[in-house]
Amino acid sequence: MGERKIVFITGASRGIGAAIALNLAQAGYDIWLNYRSSKELAYKVKEQIEAFGCTCTLLPFDVADEQAATEMLEPLLQQEVPFGLVHNAGVTRDTLLPMMKREEWDTVIDVHLNSFYILGKLISRHMLSRREGRIVTLASLSGETGQAGQVNYAAAKAGLIGASKALARELGKRNILVNVVSPGLIETEMIQKLPLDKILPLIPLGRVGQVEEVAGVVRFLLSEDASYMTGQVLSVNGGMHM
Ligand code: NAP
Repeated sequence: MGERKIVFITGASRGIGAAIALNLAQAGYDIWLNYRSSKELAYKVKEQIEAFGCTCTLLPFDVADEQAATEMLEPLLQQEVPFGLVHNAGVTRDTLLPMMKREEWDTVIDVHLNSFYILGKLISRHMLSRREGRIVTLASLSGETGQAGQVNYAAAKAGLIGASKALARELGKRNILVNVVSPGLIETEMIQKLPLDKILPLIPLGRVGQVEEVAGVVRFLLSEDASYMTGQVLSVNGGMHM
């Protein structure tokens, strides 16, 4: 790979983010690994990354907290600029809109979308001066099609898709590519409460996806092979939406 490249991944203590971190470490990237509360799991992922011969810098902070993010990242960014930002951290607060509390709306918008304002701005500023970079955001099928019980989540993810496309237009001339990976149902804690018996018949591949099947697409978007792709939404959903 030549000069070592760093990728900063949010929400990588478990689930899809952890799989992305491991996949990228296997490909030789050094990792800046953000998480919020799963400390033990984050340390385990760090150990696995180091076993691939890569470095892993743990960055525990809430992605929606601008002050915490700035205090943790700015000193690092003065030293090194990541080649990639993978904006993956996420939460759900599913409920029908008539019952939704303001806090449930705000939390989901904060963690997915306002965090992208904070981190996208911070990191892209530094990428601009290097005239290279890759940004990948994790959206969701729900943001493409809407999903009952997820007005907050669908709004946040559709917002991320729009924001990513707009940013792709802003940064293209500086060789910074911005793309979206939009998973369907992937086997993580996030889907544990869903009625899978009702959902599986809607998936042409007849099964939920595995975290590695999302991670591979992210790795592709960070690779040289994707050097002429920007502003795109790559759906990884077993054909659930086409
Ligand atoms: P997950 O297993 O629940 O993991 C969520 C990750 O995000 C954890 O590492 C968690 O860290 C971190 N996180 C949550 N809130 C955070 C915050 N405020 N600040 C920093 N980190 C935070 O979720 P997942 O299924 O892997 O989902 C990853 C992404 O894919 C999300 O954006 C999700 O919306 C999207 N997605 C998932 C699916 C699916 O079917 N699983 C489908 C479509 C899209 P801690 O545990 O340390 O707090």
